[in-house]
Amino acid sequence: MPSLTDITHLIIDMDGVLYRGDQPMPRLREFFAFLRERPIPFILATNNSTRTPQEYADKLAGMGVVVSPAEILVSGQATARFLAREYPKGTRVHVFGMPALKQAMTDEGFILADDEVQLVVASMDRGVTYEKLKRATLLIRGGARFIATNLDPTNPSEEGLLPGTGSMIAALATASETRPTAIGKPEPTMYHLAMEQMSARPETTAAIGDRVDTDILGGKKAGLITICVLSGSSERAEAEAIGTDLIFDDIAHLLETWNRQA
Ligand SMILES: [Mg+2]
Repeated sequence: MPSLTDITHLIIDMDGVLYRGDQPMPRLREFFAFLRERPIPFILATNNSTRTPQEYADKLAGMGVVVSPAEILVSGQATARFLAREYPKGTRVHVFGMPALKQAMTDEGFILADDEVQLVVASMDRGVTYEKLKRATLLIRGGARFIATNLDPTNPSEEGLLPGTGSMIAALATASETRPTAIGKPEPTMYHLAMEQMSARPETTAAIGDRVDTDILGGKKAGLITICVLSGSSERAEAEAIGTDLIFDDIAHLLETWNRQA
C-alpha cells in the first residue's frame, strides 16, 4: 500500500478539490505552502476546458494562491498537445467549443477552419446552436476525425448539475454516428503529459481528485498512486470500491496527515 511519504510529484484536480465553485477549500493556502516548501512539484489538471490556464491561475490568485499558468493543464491544452504530435503544423481543424479551446489549438500551430478540415475538436460550447451542431456533424460525416476534449456528462453548479461537455459530444456522436477519441480523464493522456512535463515517474506520482469515475480511474490507468478527497463529487464507498489508495475528507485532512508523517 503506497503512503504519502512515497510521493514526489502530484497531479491535482481543481474543482471539488481546491475549491467548490468560487469557494476555496479550508487550508488551501497552507496546502500550497506545504507543497512549495517540501518541495513537491505539481500540475493542476482539469477536464474543464472553458477557461485558459491563465484564467485558472487568476482564479487561484484571487484565493491567495500563486500558481504559474505552466503548472496548469486544461483538457483543451492536453488535446492540442496530443494532436500536435500526430499532425503537422498548419493542419486545418474545426473547433466546436469556447474561445479558450480555439486558443489552445492555434497555440500549437493548427489552423481553424470551417471546411476541408482533417479534425473536428469538440468540447463545451455555451453558445451552442443548431447551425454549429450541423456544421460539425457534416464535417465528421465527411471524414474529419472526431476528437473530444473530455466526456464529462454534467458540470456541478450552484443551480445543480448542468449539461457538460459530454452532453454536447453526445449530440454530435448521435448525429454523425461516430464515437470520438476522448483526451480528458479518465483517459490517461493528461496524466502522461503532466508526468512528462515534470519528468516524474508513475510509482512516485499521485493523482488527487474528487471524482472516482474520472480522476481516480484515470490515475489508475496511468499507474499512479491515487488519492480521493470527499469534498466534491464522489462518496467514500465509491472510492473504496475502485481501490483508491488513500482517502481523505478534504485537502485540510490530507495536509494534517502528511504533516504528521513528514
Ligand atoms: Mg473535480
